[in-house]
Order: sequence, then C-alpha cells, then structure tokens
Amino acid sequence: MQESRRKGHRVRLDAGAVLRPEALSASGSAARKTPPVWGPGSVFLEDGRIVAVTPADPAPAWPESEVVDRRDCWIVPGFVQTHIHLCQTLFRGAAEGLTLFEWLERVVWPCEAALDAASMELSAVLGTHLLASTGTTTLLDMGTTHHTDVIARVVARSGLRAFLGPAIMDRGPQHDLLRDEASARREIDALASAWQGHDDGRIRIALCPRFVPSVSDRLYERLVEAPEYRDFLIHTHGSETREEVEQVRSLTGGRTPIEHLTAWDAAAGRLQIAHAVWVSDRDRARLADTGSSVCHCPSSNYKLGSGSCDLAALQAAGVRVGLGADGAACNNRLDPWMEMRLAAFNQSALRGPDTVDPAAILRLATLGGAEALGLADETGSLARGKSADLVVLDPTGDPGAAPGPLPEEDPAAWMVYAGSAALVRETWVRGRPVFRRDEESKWYADQGARIAEARAGLLDRAGLSAKRRPPAGTVPKAATSPRSR
Ligand SMILES: [Zn+2]
Repeated sequence: MQESRRKGHRVRLDAGAVLRPEALSASGSAARKTPPVWGPGSVFLEDGRIVAVTPADPAPAWPESEVVDRRDCWIVPGFVQTHIHLCQTLFRGAAEGLTLFEWLERVVWPCEAALDAASMELSAVLGTHLLASTGTTTLLDMGTTHHTDVIARVVARSGLRAFLGPAIMDRGPQHDLLRDEASARREIDALASAWQGHDDGRIRIALCPRFVPSVSDRLYERLVEAPEYRDFLIHTHGSETREEVEQVRSLTGGRTPIEHLTAWDAAAGRLQIAHAVWVSDRDRARLADTGSSVCHCPSSNYKLGSGSCDLAALQAAGVRVGLGADGAACNNRLDPWMEMRLAAFNQSALRGPDTVDPAAILRLATLGGAEALGLADETGSLARGKSADLVVLDPTGDPGAAPGPLPEEDPAAWMVYAGSAALVRETWVRGRPVFRRDEESKWYADQGARIAEARAGLLDRAGLSAKRRPPAGTVPKAATSPRSR
C-alpha cells in the first residue's frame, strides 16, 4: 500500500461495511432512531483526509486515485483512548492482587523510578504497538516524572495521534519521583519546545498532575494558572477510590477531589479526569458546569477493586465521557474492545441490561473520546474533512465470533459484545497504516527479546524481580505500607 501523504494523493478504500458513529447520539435511545451506515461502501481520501463516504452502489467516479480493496472487511473509526500510561507497559504482570495505593507504593512508583531511557523506550514501543494493534489511533498519555521526551519520540515514530506529558508530583511517599516546581517546569518546557504541535498537530502536550495526594495546592495552582500553559489540557486522576477521596478531604479541608481540581477558574474547560468512580451528584454537576470531561476506565476500576463508575449518571448530568484502558499494569492490556465490553457490563450491573445501548458504547470509544479531548473536528468518526483515522476489521481474524458477514440486526451489539482486537487487520492514521497484522510476527521477532530483557532488568532495579516477588493474593494486609498524608 502506498502512503497517502503525497500532495494530492487520492485513495478510494472499498469496504464490505462502513460504520459512521456521528449518526449515533451520545445517549442510548436516540441512537436507535438514526441508524449509522452499515453496508458496503467506500471511503474517499485525499492527502490523508476524508473527502466522502458513500454506498458502494453506485460508486462515484474518483479519477487518479489508488484503489484499496477491502471488500472482505469492515471499516470503523479509529478508537480514542483518553487515559493511558505508556511508561507502565513493562510492569504488566508485576502488580497483581493489590488495591490502588498498595499497587502504586509497592510496584508502580518503584518501577517508574527505576525506568531509564532504554527501558522507557521499550515500554513505550510495546505500549504503542499494543494500542495500534487494537485499533487505537488517538491516546492521551500520562508519563512519569522523567524521560517523557523518550515517550514523545516513540509516539512520533509510531504514527499515532497523542496528547502526552510528564506526571507532576511534589508530595507523597515516593521520594525518587518527587520534583519541585522548577524541575517540573523544565521537563514540561523541554517537551513542549520539542514536540508541541509536531507533525501538523499530531502530537500535543498536556499538563499531568498525577492526582491530588501527589500534588501540592501551590504547585497545582502555579501550573494551572501559568499563562504559558493556558492552552494545555489538564490530565489527572480523580475520585478513583474511597481511600483517595478520604485523603483528599483531609488534605484540602474537606473538598472532594472533583471540588478541588475544579476550584481554579483557569482549569475550566480543559480538565480531563480519569476514573470519577466515587462522585456525588454535586461532583457531577460541578464537572458539567466547568466543562470538564471524564475518562471511564472500567477494567482498571474492576481489577484494582476501586468500584464502578456510573456512566449513565455522568452522561445524564451533561459530562463529556471517553474510554481508556489506563496502564497495562492494571488491567493487563491496552484494549478498547475490553473497555467497551466492560463499560456495557458495568452499566448493565448498575442499572439493568435494558439501559445499555451498544451503539452509544461504541460511540463513547470513538467520537465520545474525540469530543472529550476537544478533537471532534479532527478525528473520531468517518466524516468529510476529518483525518482518515480508521480501522480495517477482518472477520476471519476471529472466525468463531464472526461467522460470515457482519450481522445486520444489531451490528453495534455484535461489535461491543462479540468483537475483539483479533479482528483488527490494519489501523490507519491520517490515511496511512500504522499497524498491519501481517507484519506482527516480524515485529515480535525484532522486538520481543529486547522487551523481555528490558523488563527483567527494570524489575530487578526496582527490587521486584520474579524471584523476590510473592505470588498474587499471598501478601497479608498487615504488610501494606503506610499511607502518605
Ligand atoms: Zn491512570
């Protein structure tokens, strides 16, 4: 396949079925009234942008174009994941059977402190590969407090669209990771000067205060109110566990994490908060009033035992919501298919199966995420003028789940409940492939041994090599380290 970045380069991508989630409403019921396009069709691209999406019959003339025949496949918009930690991909499998604070203090923070440039690079290489292989085209990433430039380089090379930034931490028990304001600014400024707007805006920088217990009020205020960062998204965790909410109340004189994060006017309209599990009606109203958005991370919430985010209540309050896998150390994949499935199951368990609209869940993973990041004009759906960020799904990739053509009766339900990343044949960003399934074995041959070696060295430096680590579920509660205050 040719790259479609050459000026005036035209591509006609023919497919067996095309999904257009801009025809889906964010709330479940209305989505049924305006069915998305599911049928044979073509996507027309010029210089990486979508010019038109049409039914196959009759196919309009499109002179001087390259024709890519995917009539045996289905085309859907690329997935948008609004909360990821590429730096944690190498820790996968090293932090099992732990709640959030145990998980952070015993494994994740020591491992982040032990990341050097080489292991950071391989963590990001593996992470971006996992994302692209699942059909993810856009991510919002939170790094750790150092080597964010390495993440930026890997993301730039991967072809993915991303917001990224270093984690900001100036208080708490993990001394190796704490940075004062001057040091935090140096990391952010160096990153912004090298990468802000890179490749026609494909890469953008975000401010990433880790969560309220890790960031002093003064540092949060100084960064959020800094004129030079006024255009940056603010990406953080909030109200993930009951324990965190209690800590934040004691640190802030009684505020909830949501009340605290939204207390500065300068944060309005650009806060992107991961989790929002333990939120009140007042918190939800506050999120909506301040134009903040939430990343729903159901697999992370379930695995760490954090709780269940009430998606329907957030949406009813008018909060923009996207989906995200969080880090591979807490779920243990970076897979939007799993997040869609668990988001649907989570809502079914909370409010009953008749409240779940799979089309609305699919929209959440695509256009909803783009809206939450302020990128809805650029990506999230197969609409004229947008970047050609899309996924080519091959039903033979998961033949047990998809025997024959895409089921017509409710294709969105099929995608959410039966679909999987095994269907992803190609992932395209800006009209060119960033992942091809047929190159997968070569990728593992090139990278597999290096990644395994980097992981073993990293865990050893962090004091967590497999020889020293107790099996999951065997650590007595009394061994939990003290909480930071
Ligand atoms: Zn996270």
